[in-house]
Amino acid sequence: MDKILRTLICGGQVSLAVIETTELVNSAVEIHKIPCSAARILGGLLTCGAYLASSLKEDGASVSLTVKAKNGDGAVSVSADKNLHIRGYADGSCESTLAGGSLTVVREDGHSQPFVGTCEIFADGISDILDTYFGQSEQIATASSINVLFGEDGKCVSAGGIVMQLLPCADEDNIVLAGTLFEEFKSNFSDKKFDAQTVINTFNAYFSGALTTAFPVYKCNCSERKIRGVLASLGKRELLKICDELGEVKVHCHYCNKDYTYNKTRIEEIF
Ligand SMILES: [Zn+2]
Repeated sequence: MDKILRTLICGGQVSLAVIETTELVNSAVEIHKIPCSAARILGGLLTCGAYLASSLKEDGASVSLTVKAKNGDGAVSVSADKNLHIRGYADGSCESTLAGGSLTVVREDGHSQPFVGTCEIFADGISDILDTYFGQSEQIATASSINVLFGEDGKCVSAGGIVMQLLPCADEDNIVLAGTLFEEFKSNFSDKKFDAQTVINTFNAYFSGALTTAFPVYKCNCSERKIRGVLASLGKRELLKICDELGEVKVHCHYCNKDYTYNKTRIEEIF
């Protein structure tokens, strides 16, 4: 089962998250049937989305992330909410370099204006992109190592990684220690199949806080009720006009690849 384990390490001055998202990525691969190049980016971004969602506090809070490749060669979008329901899709093959593209993060707490942060992408790795985003847009020193590995059958064999963030109180000694532990993770687990519990056990001696566990799952939040709400806002006359021209009104959900279709009788029912 996918999980996110979070705790404080290094005298309580560094936050550590160990993330396992193999099932999440395989759900996306199964739904979208996209080429490996796009699945790798989508898998990485789903993992980032799960991490960001695990720090949402308010009920109804959500976060969305969009990576746009350079020269419009594809985009990948992920949305996640406080319940750790994560969903995403890739638009285009994303075969060319991401460097020169951008990452935009929109965080909503469910009450006030959303926080929007954008950063330019300087390197192709999803970890580099996440580190740059946190450094530039949220001023949080971050070191992440996220990997998505695929087997020859196109299925994800391992996805996840770690994210370390310095708290404002972090002193020099603990910053150096965190750097050493980060390198230790990279040399032992990066680019290999791993499970979150094994990783957390290796950091056990450096814990200085309680361990929390959360379980991200791939889940779309679209529903018949929501789609009807959107259609109702277009007005009956407009919908019947589309129906006359195309025979039906079709709404496609990018996140779960589901089509909602409405003929004249069903449109009448909405109103
Ligand atoms: Zn959906």
